[in-house]
Amino acid sequence: MANILKAPRGTMDVLPDKIDKWTYIEYTARETANLFGFKEIRFPTFESIDLFRRGVGETTDVVQKEMFTFTHGNSNFALRPEGTASTVRLVLSNGLYNDPMPLKLFYITSCFRGERPQAGRLREFHQFGVELFGTAEPSADAEIILLAKTMFNNLGIKGLRLEINSIGCPNCRKDYQNALREYFTSKQDGLCDTCKSRLERNPMRILDCKSPECQKIAEAAPKVTDYICDDCRTHFEAVQNQLKNLNVDFIVNTSIVRGLDYYTRTVFEFIDEKRGLTLCGGGRYDGLVSQLGGPELPALGFAMGLERLIMTMDEQGCSYETEQNKTVYFATIGDAASKKAAELALKLRTEGISAEYDLVGRSMKAQMKYANRKGFAFTVAIGDNELNSNTAELKNMQTGETIPVTLDDKIIEAIDNAIVKETMKELEETIEKDKIFNS
Ligand code: ATP
Ligand code: MG
Repeated sequence: MANILKAPRGTMDVLPDKIDKWTYIEYTARETANLFGFKEIRFPTFESIDLFRRGVGETTDVVQKEMFTFTHGNSNFALRPEGTASTVRLVLSNGLYNDPMPLKLFYITSCFRGERPQAGRLREFHQFGVELFGTAEPSADAEIILLAKTMFNNLGIKGLRLEINSIGCPNCRKDYQNALREYFTSKQDGLCDTCKSRLERNPMRILDCKSPECQKIAEAAPKVTDYICDDCRTHFEAVQNQLKNLNVDFIVNTSIVRGLDYYTRTVFEFIDEKRGLTLCGGGRYDGLVSQLGGPELPALGFAMGLERLIMTMDEQGCSYETEQNKTVYFATIGDAASKKAAELALKLRTEGISAEYDLVGRSMKAQMKYANRKGFAFTVAIGDNELNSNTAELKNMQTGETIPVTLDDKIIEAIDNAIVKETMKELEETIEKDKIFNS
């Protein structure tokens, strides 16, 4: 029997001490997407299995080996392995293609793939994805890449390598597929079984195979950039020029084809060289919308893996700024004091100041110890004396400083002032630190 006390293989709990990392990254993703005019969407955790078969591609690893599928009644479903097919389905189901173009959407969501779990590779993982519909212009490709780069900058991640490629369009791809098929057929014996089966239907997939033997053979394969048509070549050159204009460094890597079938023309990856991890992958998918039954609507996007962002941020010592400090703790003795604390805490919360008090019935000493361990900024101790005089001491837990406060509405202003004073002090310290750092 499965051990019910262990999270399933390849999944992860997030505990309160790590949640700040997640909320910070999610917050930064929303802010960055908003700066570029993208609006958030949410879609179901599972969809018809056919959506992914057709949307992601029958010959991809994701569809062939990695989907979590289930049947309910007469319907076959799959947990979403990625967000693009779901986004296109959402656009089509809701007629968003009638909106003014370009249509700019983003999501922050979990994805499910039955891969072999290892560092940076989970079975449930999370993506920040953006999708831009309704433009075939090369400036849109550059904009999407710039958005990904801005996200990395905003998180403080440094030194990623941006690799771009063009994999052409269905017109020029035929020639390339033929050239690849010819090449790989001559080396057939060395390929893994999956790649042998791909030879006929989609030889380009072999370039993306993770098996070292297949990768070795792929090294000398024909290069896509030698086969793309004039239109695709002009487009690719324009994307590169625009990236140069925007001071975005990149290298062209003709072996990137990306793991999903829907891509056309520009594809790209942001790679953490030190860890050999791809943090972000994306590209154009001009044919996908019509392929799923919609109008001709060129589109493009990217997805980044949040777990991989955290791994890189941890390694680079990036900070996760948060503003969720615990503010006031009321330590109490006796029922009357506890009742008073409940009233005052409610007043403070109504004003947007976080406040807590003892819910366990512990001694004053134990309550103060708790407040200390939990990192409250201020404490107010209330016993009989305080109730009688209607005053108490507001204690700054870092400095030990105390100021008198009254146990009524006026406490709100006193605490507000104390918070402002504390914030100003922190700000001055940061400015001072920056001065030292910059000098
Ligand atoms: P890889 O080549 O690493 O398998 P992929 O091509 O399958 O990546 P995409 O489908 O393009 O990746 O997904 C975009 C991003 O989502 C990846 O760059 C990565 O950051 C993240 N990602 C993909 N699969 C996983 C996974 N199993 N666990 C954690 N993150 C993942
Ligand atoms: Mg993969």
